[in-house]
Amino acid sequence: MIDFDAHLAPYAAHSSKSRGRRHAEPAAGSRSEFQRDRDRIIHSTAFRRLEYKTQVFLNHEGDLFRTRLTHSIEVAQIGRTLARSLRLNEDLVEATALSHDLGHTPFGHVGQDVLNECMKDYGGFEHNLQSLRVVDHLEEHYGAFDGLNLTFETREGILKHCSLANARQLGELGQRFIDKTQPSLEAQLTNLADEIAYNNHDIDDGLRSGLLTMKQMEEVDLFARLHRQVVQQYPGLPGRRELYETIRLMITAMTADLVEESCRLIKEAAPQSIDDVRAAPPLIRFSATMRAETTALKRFLYANLYRHFKVNRMRVKASRVIRELFDAFMADPVLLPFDYQVAGGDTHKQARKIADYIAGMTDRYAIREHKRIFSLDEL
Ligand code: MG
Repeated sequence: MIDFDAHLAPYAAHSSKSRGRRHAEPAAGSRSEFQRDRDRIIHSTAFRRLEYKTQVFLNHEGDLFRTRLTHSIEVAQIGRTLARSLRLNEDLVEATALSHDLGHTPFGHVGQDVLNECMKDYGGFEHNLQSLRVVDHLEEHYGAFDGLNLTFETREGILKHCSLANARQLGELGQRFIDKTQPSLEAQLTNLADEIAYNNHDIDDGLRSGLLTMKQMEEVDLFARLHRQVVQQYPGLPGRRELYETIRLMITAMTADLVEESCRLIKEAAPQSIDDVRAAPPLIRFSATMRAETTALKRFLYANLYRHFKVNRMRVKASRVIRELFDAFMADPVLLPFDYQVAGGDTHKQARKIADYIAGMTDRYAIREHKRIFSLDEL
């Protein structure tokens, strides 16, 4: 039997001590429990859909923009680097990173906001909770159970936040939101790897799209400082390389800071097990200085990129597509594929099925489906 946990810190998530799966299964032998989770995620249908789901720019706006798939891979890459530095479980971080966005609707965050409004009388819609729903119920890959039957630890990492009302219905997984305790360090770390990934790749995508300019970027202290460093080291470098060098330094600065500050906090709290970690305050954190810099960067991206009028136009169009699809299906469930029609007229169940159907759509599928429902020319 391979010892998958030999190199891990005592406070890491150990595969041999996993709290297990909802449906008990024999061990895989050649793979740790979390490797197995990762493999199931990669083979899932929801994972392949991420290729055609928006991060910030719609999938068809350009071939080089991040999609939810490439974003998730970047989160896994940054997360694994951090995990290895801290002797945490890389496999668990990778599994969590690759599944953290599985429940995202088409068209990015606006999709979830609109669907949440549409679902307000039927229990609402949260993309985090939907990711969990995908891996627990919606995937249809196995004979013995619905979903992917992932370990408690991967599911804990997927559920970053959740309302108290929902937490009360989630049993042991929801308990930490009620008790206000922390998840594993791997979950805390993946959350911040997500932030490092999008804060940096959105700069690249923003500049590529022309919605941001290098001149504007100078408003961001961290960027300006590291950019100056690149210009000094490589005078006359072509713009794109200059940008990549700067972003590379930013990712390095953020990861180095996170490792240093987290090491300090872990040392101070001296957890001896994952249970100690769960009872302690958050131990994976940026230093106060870096937190201030990333907050400034986020504010900048929000004002200048996420709320750019061209992004706004796309967002408003996208929200219309989702709302009209939802309303049309609610008014006439017979328009739905047979699998999504609920017999017996239970409106709550029907609404949830419609939310599952819409959330599962890729950007282009949603656009096509909207045409099929509303245009006489489309079959
Ligand atoms: Mg993400």
